[in-house]
Amino acid sequence: MTMSIKKGTASHGLLRTVEQMADVDLSVCFQCKKCDSGCPVSHLTASPPSEVVRRLHLGAGNELLESDLVWMCVSCETCFARCPMGIDIPSAIDALRVLAVKQQTPTPEGDMPLFNRAFLKTVKIFGRTYDLGMITAHKIGTKSYLKDAEKFPVMLKKKKIALLPPRGADRKTARRIFDSVKRKKENQK
Ligand code: SF4
Ligand code: SF4
Repeated sequence: MTMSIKKGTASHGLLRTVEQMADVDLSVCFQCKKCDSGCPVSHLTASPPSEVVRRLHLGAGNELLESDLVWMCVSCETCFARCPMGIDIPSAIDALRVLAVKQQTPTPEGDMPLFNRAFLKTVKIFGRTYDLGMITAHKIGTKSYLKDAEKFPVMLKKKKIALLPPRGADRKTARRIFDSVKRKKENQK
């Protein structure tokens, strides 16, 4: 695959910023690609995790924020677990996601930031993800009411989705985490 790299304004593009934000050292990556072979979305993306790291090595700038993996990564941490150098790639991708939101970078297909917000909102309210609430918020936000609607009865029948919000989650702890992140962000302003 051909990589398109434009130098960022800083001499190392986004590399140092991502390393600082994610508290990772990407220089130890030796491109073994073990991360790619375990990644559940690498076959769907144009840029698997090892390529994102390599592009950072090569001085990629803001164009990297348009990489589809930035929003397709499901934070499963498989890459982190498989990496022989212990590189926390999900944190690096989170950092790219934060930068993409800050810079209002166009996102790939669908409204991924909205999906992300809907996901976090349900965790904040219920202490755990509530799929139906998340899907409803995303559908309202994207006005895609009927898209994939035919799958809903099958998912219900197979118990892949629940009508009612999750019970038994530690909502107080979840709230505390959200409040502490909010305070941290306010202190950084
Ligand atoms: S598994 Fe680790 S060392 Fe190997 S390519 Fe991926 S990030 Fe680099
Ligand atoms: S955390 Fe993201 S990049 Fe890593 S394996 Fe999971 S989906 Fe792929």
